[in-house]
Amino acid sequence: MKLRRLFRSIRVRLTLWYVLLLALVLVAFSGALYLTLRTALYHNLDNALRNSAALLVNALDVDDQGHLTAAPEQPLAWSDPRAGEHFWRVLDPAGRVLAQAGVRDMGDVPVDPVAVATVLAGREVFDTIRLGNEPIRLYTAPVDHAGRAVGVVQLGLSLDEVRETLAVFLAILGVALPATLTLASLGGIFLAGRALRPVDRITRAAQTISAHDLSRRLNLDLPDDELGRLARTFDGMIARLDEAFRRQRRFTADASHELRTPLTVIKGDLSLALARPRDAQYYRQVLVEVDEEVDRMNRLVERLLTLARADAEGLPLHRQPVNLSLLLAEIVEQAHPLAQAKGLELTAQIASDLTAEVDPDAITEVVFNLLDNAIKYTPAGRVRLSAHLEGDGIRIAVSDSGPGISAEHLPHLFEPFYRVDRARSRELGGVGLGLTIARELVRAHGGDITVHSVPGEGSTFTVRLPQGEEKSPTKGPATGGAP
Ligand code: ADP
Repeated sequence: MKLRRLFRSIRVRLTLWYVLLLALVLVAFSGALYLTLRTALYHNLDNALRNSAALLVNALDVDDQGHLTAAPEQPLAWSDPRAGEHFWRVLDPAGRVLAQAGVRDMGDVPVDPVAVATVLAGREVFDTIRLGNEPIRLYTAPVDHAGRAVGVVQLGLSLDEVRETLAVFLAILGVALPATLTLASLGGIFLAGRALRPVDRITRAAQTISAHDLSRRLNLDLPDDELGRLARTFDGMIARLDEAFRRQRRFTADASHELRTPLTVIKGDLSLALARPRDAQYYRQVLVEVDEEVDRMNRLVERLLTLARADAEGLPLHRQPVNLSLLLAEIVEQAHPLAQAKGLELTAQIASDLTAEVDPDAITEVVFNLLDNAIKYTPAGRVRLSAHLEGDGIRIAVSDSGPGISAEHLPHLFEPFYRVDRARSRELGGVGLGLTIARELVRAHGGDITVHSVPGEGSTFTVRLPQGEEKSPTKGPATGGAP
């Protein structure tokens, strides 16, 4: 259980991997070094044997018939410093021993007929054998006379020294390897701990941030490395969450407030009416007012639902190729009575054959809303709609000669429930969701909506829509009624 928890630490896992890799590299490296050393030592030994054999062969006498006649007892002024360790024998071609000498009794070494045959055929043979407990390197070479092999010499040399050197080398490795790995593990644990310490700080700081206290930040003073960037990204995310939560709370509070206002009006009207008997005219008046407030609540709830849907899954659009020129003219037509009722001049300048792949109902809602606002908030003067091709898209602008909107309100205009003049807007039937929904609908089409306003001169709301895939309409405008 404890071990499992240990392995859940990146620090431990990182160190283990690092030590494992290091161990593999060191073992491979040491193996290669051992083999190279061993080859070099054997090579040296073989060369010494070869040189001594040449001296021995030189000291041999061969008669005219090509027979070996004399073999010196101790003939060799060995050039090798290990001369005293040599032992040797001379054989005739039949494998019979003619002479032998040296520190060992070669009689213990059986004559290998295969080696003798190979040597007589002109090739030298190296072999490793055991004499008693001692490993021996055995060299067998031909004695050449007048171009043919007339005998065989065999020289032996103990491998003890080579084996000892290799054993010492292995012993050094046996100590050095574990020591290196231990040091590397300690260093690895230390370094990994140091590198990962900020992660623990981030974890501890993040644990103190709860959904109710999103104003807190990690604010860790970390360098601009991976972990520093992680901490800053985390802070950025918390800031966005904080803003989203704040918006959500404001939205809920505003929505409740907006719903309470008509309820308060209804309750007040009803209480007054019920306080004492009234005539039919009075009751009728109350019912008309209640009806109006219920209408207002209906509109509000419908808009809230639209926004909730936009938030949750995006607004469902029924896109189709639409002749926008016709659709816009139709919307302006629907708005005419409103403008007329206020004595406003409503004009339209629409380019012909504007087409786009859009949801006609959504576009109708957006444009009608802009026209309705322009008419609502313009006491006298004119309202104008213009629509043109602009780049790859279509630009629809609704401008008025109304009071305009001062700069401090402009950034908030599309926020839910935002109204420049709350009382006046309510008086005019507005709840402050029209522009919010308009922007959601336009954005769902891949477009955007902006406002430009000069106080005292008027406002212009501009919708930019991409034309979409289809550019030639197959249908006229769908039946887009006013919202
Ligand atoms: P409302 O339902 O209150 O009209 P909107 O979201 O449509 O809500 O508009 C938000 C606010 O923007 C309005 O309350 C109003 O103060 C301001 N506004 C919108 N259009 C205009 C305009 N054409 N001229 C002046 N103010 C406007």
